[in-house]
Amino acid sequence: MNRVDLGDEARSVRRSLAGEHAGETGTRLPPFIDHHVHLALVDPSGLGAHGIAGVVDLGANPATISRFAESAGRARVAYAGAFLTAPGGYPVGRSWLPEGAAREITPTTSSPADALPDAARIAVDEQAAFGASVIKVTLNSDGPVLDLDTLRAIVAAARIHDLPVAAHVEGEGMTRLALDAEIDALVHTPWTEHVPSSLIARAAARQVWISTLAIHEGAGRDTALDNLSRFREAGGRVVYGTDLGNGDLPVGVNAVEIAALQDAGFGARGILAALVDPWPAAAQPDDGIATFVPGPRPTAPTDLPAWLARSCVVPVEDLEEIR
Ligand SMILES: [Zn+2]
Repeated sequence: MNRVDLGDEARSVRRSLAGEHAGETGTRLPPFIDHHVHLALVDPSGLGAHGIAGVVDLGANPATISRFAESAGRARVAYAGAFLTAPGGYPVGRSWLPEGAAREITPTTSSPADALPDAARIAVDEQAAFGASVIKVTLNSDGPVLDLDTLRAIVAAARIHDLPVAAHVEGEGMTRLALDAEIDALVHTPWTEHVPSSLIARAAARQVWISTLAIHEGAGRDTALDNLSRFREAGGRVVYGTDLGNGDLPVGVNAVEIAALQDAGFGARGILAALVDPWPAAAQPDDGIATFVPGPRPTAPTDLPAWLARSCVVPVEDLEEIR
């Protein structure tokens, strides 16, 4: 009895005799997405060879990332454009921040009756004009933070474009602020504060959480694991994300992130659901690609991270099903 249940979409396949690695057998799965990356900070050319078919860039110069996404061709790139933050707020002034990647929003003072759009509206419209499919705000209490009214103005502006809003929350009270502003997603599992059960329940009812567990160690990792496991138990929607570009992370499926999801209580089916979730899109495009994992399937949960890290992206037509 195999203890690793990969679900109904896992198919036993053989690679076609015409292509690379002719006749190699393995498993076909739907395409995988890393839902938190920064393409400007890495060389993304190896993503497909290491199992990542799509990415969500969560903070970049909007002109640069939109040009990149257009030229990427086969790669699927969704993006937020700039980090929207308070004047002087995180990540303004950080050494890694690319030119034009942060947009400082002066607090909203306009009443709904005002004829002129406010700074929040202008900033959101600008990201949408560059093709963003999600709006990103940063709420880090180490520095100035957007107030609730301005956050609500950002969310309202994003709704006009039918875009979700995702927040970086860091520091005491920031998860609550994001929930009060009706933010749709957290770009990291909260790692700096224990999120109380009442907030976990509210979050699970409306938010998507992007895992990014492997960027932490020590107490931050423990806090994130505890928050994420309770969010999962409360029925919250979790998507796989690594924050690729933040420090030294592997380009491709990250075995350490997969193992950390297991530590948070996820089984193989839950991990695969997090990898193939189309967020922020409603569905994955039908563009003729699939995940291929060579070799025999894992027989024990401890084999799953390394097995998934061997995956690659291939054309569906290169795979034939073995019955
Ligand atoms: Zn990030």
